[in-house]
Amino acid sequence: MLPFSFYDLVEACAGDECPVCTLLIRDADRYLDSLLYEFANDPGTHAAFRAGRGLCNLHSWQLTRYDAGVLGIAILQTAVIDEVLRLIDEAPAQPSGGLARMFGSGANGPSALADRLEPEGPCLVCQTLAQAEASYLEALVTHLGDARLEAAFRRSAGLCLPHFRTALRGPGPGAALDRLIALQTERWRQLKAELLEFQSKSDYKRAHEVMGRERDSWRRAIGSAAGAHAVFGLRRPPGK
Ligand SMILES: [Zn+2]
Ligand SMILES: [Zn+2]
Repeated sequence: MLPFSFYDLVEACAGDECPVCTLLIRDADRYLDSLLYEFANDPGTHAAFRAGRGLCNLHSWQLTRYDAGVLGIAILQTAVIDEVLRLIDEAPAQPSGGLARMFGSGANGPSALADRLEPEGPCLVCQTLAQAEASYLEALVTHLGDARLEAAFRRSAGLCLPHFRTALRGPGPGAALDRLIALQTERWRQLKAELLEFQSKSDYKRAHEVMGRERDSWRRAIGSAAGAHAVFGLRRPPGK
């Protein structure tokens, strides 16, 4: 039986961006929504927010998209600020003022406090997306031989470069990865042709010609090289 992620991938291939990026943006949205509306009072979530000192910068600010979720944000961020205050209050007594700066490198100094204030846990969203990313890439490589997925991938934007690299380093069998390399290379050759056509039609001698699909190739090329906008959080697990 095919996993749900197979059908998700086929559907995401219809978009203008890397299908894995498309799914991760959807997943981040669902996860942030559930944090605010279902887990804002959940003790495990509070513990994770305390340990992580909140979410990473990118995902923290994405919380503000949910206008109706401000109470959830207030509750979760209270846990973070409370944890910060607890760590400061419980820090060993240290010299004050200029002395604090002079002895800053000591075990009780400001620098040691800075170390204690570092996150002790992941950004919950980065962590969730890293797991989802691995499962989508595994499903893609595993099922690329399926005619439906292959046809959808051929019509898609292809993978972005970061997801292509991750797929190549993944556990897929060599033959499946060779297939991915062939299909992906096709997508990039097509994009390069569109970029060159865009440049050519930007010349005054061809200014009268109507732009076709190459019209936004420059924008798609950004996503193709860097991944979709804001798809990669700032505290991704190592090796991602
Ligand atoms: Zn991607
Ligand atoms: Zn994050």
